[in-house]
Amino acid sequence: MKFGTKAIHAGQEPDPTTGAIMTPIYQTSTYWQESPGKHKGYAYARGKNPTRNALEKCIAALENGKHGLCFSSGMGATDAVIKLLQPGDEVVTGNDLYGGTYRMFTKVFAKYGIKFHFIDLTDAQNICNYLTANTKLIWVETPTNPTMQIVDIAACASIAQQNNLILAVDNTFASPYLQNPLDLGADIVMHSVTKYLGGHSDVVMGALVTNDDKLHEQLAFIHNSCGATPGPQDSFLVLRGIKTLHLRMKAHCENGRIIAEYLRSHSKIEKVYWPGFTDHPNHAIAKKQMRDFGGMISIVLKGADLPETFRIASSFNVFSLAESLGGVESLINHPATMTHASIPKEEREKAGVVDNLLRLSVGVEDIDDLMDDLKQALS
Ligand SMILES: *Cc1c(COP(=O)(O)O)cnc(C)c1O
Repeated sequence: MKFGTKAIHAGQEPDPTTGAIMTPIYQTSTYWQESPGKHKGYAYARGKNPTRNALEKCIAALENGKHGLCFSSGMGATDAVIKLLQPGDEVVTGNDLYGGTYRMFTKVFAKYGIKFHFIDLTDAQNICNYLTANTKLIWVETPTNPTMQIVDIAACASIAQQNNLILAVDNTFASPYLQNPLDLGADIVMHSVTKYLGGHSDVVMGALVTNDDKLHEQLAFIHNSCGATPGPQDSFLVLRGIKTLHLRMKAHCENGRIIAEYLRSHSKIEKVYWPGFTDHPNHAIAKKQMRDFGGMISIVLKGADLPETFRIASSFNVFSLAESLGGVESLINHPATMTHASIPKEEREKAGVVDNLLRLSVGVEDIDDLMDDLKQALS
């Protein structure tokens, strides 16, 4: 089955009791048992819920994976992956991570004796400089947030395979429409479903997908034991959102391209981060592993101090100033004080997240209105 067909049908069968075409919202925490332990495959809804299971199958299919698990947030999904590790284990990861991931690694898991190396992953060979006998996991985010660096997933996978490590990829920014890490050799794909998969900024959710039966078994055990599972209402909303993922992503990419090119020619803008530019330092890898370049764009305002940056960020009419991304509506965000505020200033600036950087999540509105809004806000 092709992508658009999977987005609409994967994991979803007419409901066996009524024939309902849309997967019902099974709003129940528990299930009837005929005699103790004898039930229809469902005992308690933390473990299994039919609405959630349909969504898990759908997301797994979109990532060309065998097993999917949905979590109550993207962070809940990441948390489950790190819980595969033991005290003393080491993780090699990027130096330009989602702020919440950095915070979880440094403020939650470091104190349980897990060591994280935050390094430049744009040259995958750099990983080899940080491998020790205790390294267990490589955690990659690509494109990175907010400076849109691209990490070569296949190159990381070959290092992971040679050294018997798990490679996990946060595929939130690309979405499965643009990139499928499992096909490139990754062991686990993670999503903040909150973003493009949900697509309507009305649900917080996460997901993990793997082809590895043993890893799935361990992750499913953590999922049920630790309990960061989403409810059936949210699962239904995401199933509904995913039905237009391919249509939305196509529109995000088209609008993104027009806006990236316009911004690059604008006199008030010093730099535009977007992997679709042929002179982007990692464009060749982006072209190799992604089908298009998406609607996430970051800009550095020329010579703007913090008040001037705030003034511009607050002067949009169609774009809304807000955290998050990946919804149908366009958003603008000031990473230094919003999404990335939990990263120390020095670390942040090393990764290029300067005070005059703004990040755009280009939505699927009419391009003429988005362009007019950008023109007036920058004038
Ligand atoms: C939002 C986001 C997360 C965290 O997901 P939540 O659903 O907010 O918990 C992780 N990684 C990336 C790249 C994100 O954008």
